[in-house]
Parts: sequence; structure tokens; C-alpha cells
Amino acid sequence: MQSHHDFMGLCLDEAARAAACGEVPVGAIVVLAGDVIGRGYNLRETTGDPTAHAEVVALREAARAVGYWRVLDATLYVTLEPCVMCAGALVNARIRTLVYGCADAKAGAVESLYAVPTDARLNHRLEVVAGVRADECSEMLRSFFRRRRGGAGPQGRPLWRGGRVV
Ligand SMILES: [Zn+2]
Repeated sequence: MQSHHDFMGLCLDEAARAAACGEVPVGAIVVLAGDVIGRGYNLRETTGDPTAHAEVVALREAARAVGYWRVLDATLYVTLEPCVMCAGALVNARIRTLVYGCADAKAGAVESLYAVPTDARLNHRLEVVAGVRADECSEMLRSFFRRRRGGAGPQGRPLWRGGRVV
């Protein structure tokens, strides 16, 4: 049985693939009974799809693997604290456990801004493990934006300001 540390390493590999194609480096995997059944990295720029976050890409693959929209008893690993959309997708997929790396003070919907996976008003709640290899996960984002500093994003919009994604 691999550890959270090992599985987060696979997410860091996915995040590196995102960075290699100019995407903000976030990577995710879905693990069921010790097997990786879904992988994904952020593909927003490549696909022009606002829902193409790493978690959603990995969840779609996992749902195809199990053949159903409920991905029961699975664990989703991701390098960055999920946003509102992705946290909602995890609840909808009935994922059992969420393990993430670094927090996202600006958009995080697990602990930073909202607590979607543990909100008692929803009909499914997740176990949450935060901070696994957080320094490596955040350093991957920081180095990506350092390289981009002074550059421009799609449509000439600046990609970041004050060290954060804008
Ligand atoms: Zn998201």
C-alpha cells in the first residue's frame, strides 16, 4: 500500500505536465483500493474549458473507469486545495477522502474560504487530509509564476499579481 506521500508524488508529476504546456501546475489523481483509476492536470488554457481543472479531469477518468458517476470509496489527491467547483464535484462523485497539498488562500473551498467537503448541510461529506507535501506543491506554483513574471496570459491579461494568480 502506497502512502499519501507517494500518491502526492504522482500528483506532482501531473502538475509538472501542466507546467510543461504552459498551464498553471496543478495535478490530481483518484485512487481506489490502491490503484490509480484517474489522473488529470489543469487544462484550462489548452482546452478553453473553464471546468478543466485537474480534479475534474481526474474525476471524469475515474468515473469512466468504474462505469458510474458515483466513485464510491475512492480517494482524490490534488496538489492544491480545491476550488468551489471542484469541491462540489467531489461531493457529487461521493469521493470518500480528499488529500491535498498546499492551501489556496484566494480560492480554496475546503478550509480557506469555504468548507464544502465537510458542510453538514450537504448529503455527503468527505474525510479531509491537508498539507501533504505542501511545500513542494506550493513551490511548483511559485516557480511557474516566477518564470511567467512580466509575461502576459491569454488575451494579454496578466496571469498573476503580487505573487498570486489573478
Ligand atoms: Zn477547481
